[in-house]
Parts: sequence; C-alpha cells; structure tokens
Amino acid sequence: MERLVNNWCLINRAGDCCRASVSVVVESAPVRLARISHSEGASFVAIGGEPDSLIAAELGTSLFVDPTFTGRTWPLASVELLAPIRPSKVVCVGKNYADHAREMGGEAPVDPVIFLKPSTSVIGPGADIVLPADSARVDYEGELAVVIGGVPAKDVKVEDARSVILGYTIANDVTARDQQQADGQWTRAKGHDTFCPLGPWIETSLDPADLELRTEVDGETRQDCRTSELVHGVGELIAWISHAMTLLPGDVVLTGTPAGVGPMTAGQTVSVSVEGIGTLTNTVVGGP
Ligand code: MG
Repeated sequence: MERLVNNWCLINRAGDCCRASVSVVVESAPVRLARISHSEGASFVAIGGEPDSLIAAELGTSLFVDPTFTGRTWPLASVELLAPIRPSKVVCVGKNYADHAREMGGEAPVDPVIFLKPSTSVIGPGADIVLPADSARVDYEGELAVVIGGVPAKDVKVEDARSVILGYTIANDVTARDQQQADGQWTRAKGHDTFCPLGPWIETSLDPADLELRTEVDGETRQDCRTSELVHGVGELIAWISHAMTLLPGDVVLTGTPAGVGPMTAGQTVSVSVEGIGTLTNTVVGGP
C-alpha cells in the first residue's frame, strides 16, 4: 500500500515528491479506495486531496495488486460513488454486540453465528433502499464491514487476519424483520435487492479495534457504540468464517450491529458513520 501512496503522491504533487512527504502522507492521510461512475463508465479510484476538494485518481490496476495510476482524475464532487467493491458474497455475523443480542431477546452466542447476503443485495452510497411490498417492517443495522484482499483466504489464524484484509468500509445490514421472524432462517429477510448498502469507500489504513459507530435516521441518532464492544473481534471473525468457507478477493464481512435497531419508512434518509472511515447515506423508497 505504500507503493500506492507513493504513486498517489506523485500525481498529487506533480513530481514534487520526496521521501519525507511520502511519510507525511502515509501517517496523516490513510488511503481511500473507491469505485465511481463517470461520463465514460466506471472506474476504481484512490481518493485524496483536501477535505473540501477531494480528487478521485483512476487506478490502472485492480485493487489487489501493486497499484498504478492512469493519470485520469476527477473532482470527487463531479462523479457518483458506487459500492466500493463487488463481492462474490457478503458474510454477516448475527448478535455480535451483547446489548443488541439482549434487545433481540437473548444473549450473544458463544461462537459467531453467520449468514449470507447475496451479491445482488449490494448498492452504493446514495442509492435507494427499496422497501419490499410484502414486508411491514424493514430495519436498518449499521455495521463495520471488512473487505478481503487479493488472495483467497482459507483457515486463516486469528493473528494472521490482518494480512488477508484489504481495508474497511461501512454497511447497512438492511433486514425485513417480520420476514426474519416468520421464516426462521434469514435468507429472504436479509437478501432483498438493495438490502446491503456499502461505502462510501474502503479505508486501507485503519485499526478497527475501537471506533465509534453511529446510525442516524433523518439526522436523529438511533445507534451509537464503539467497535471495542464487539463480542467477537475482526480477527476472530475472519478465522471463524474462513475455517468454514474460502473468502475470495473482495468478499465482505459484516461484523454485526449494536443496540438501537429500528424501522425505516419510505422517504427517510439513513446514515451510518464509522470513525476513521466516513458516512454511508442512503434514502428509503417504497417498492412497486
Ligand atoms: Mg446485522
């Protein structure tokens, strides 16, 4: 990743790049990877620049190899952010905050309980969450999301988990609560199209151990906790999941939601913020 920062530095500073400035970038400006839609199609980009004038620089490679840049750039404000990754699968963890487990009427399970959301449920920041006509209650679940790096991950040890992680993003594990309770298993309730907003980008330089996570509906705080309250931490989850199934490059792991889950209705705006990453915002619309 330092190579990416180095190259990014070259673009940002038009060749005025020295070792000292690279170090400053590495330490003070973690690298953000994103996917954008622009007038000529879609591109993977790195995001840099000043907070009020962010720039998206097109990657000439995939996210998973030594990155290079094509030289094309866009003001971030002029393009649309897409989901930052297109995972083959999204692996989720249920009841991984004790206070959420209690609000659901139980205790956190001793071992992680996992389930899947289909790749077709993924949408990007700003996209609409579409309420299914056959559900009377659809909930938000703000979560820290982990993005797997470039090598298939199987039987990863807890202490090696960081080496298989590309970075972190934000997710909303949208849930048709009534269907979850009616079905007994969760595939339909968790798997509707648009039920997995991801974004706004992947933060590659972040310690996930103790970050504030906050969910707001129309600007009103509904969930507010720290990732230090996770029952099973990121390394433990990667080890547990990869023992059962191979995690492919770009696969996403949702680490669980804290207490405060609740319904969303058409017309509302839901924002999930994670310290050190940013904010994922989506609007809610009624289905056909
Ligand atoms: Mg969840």
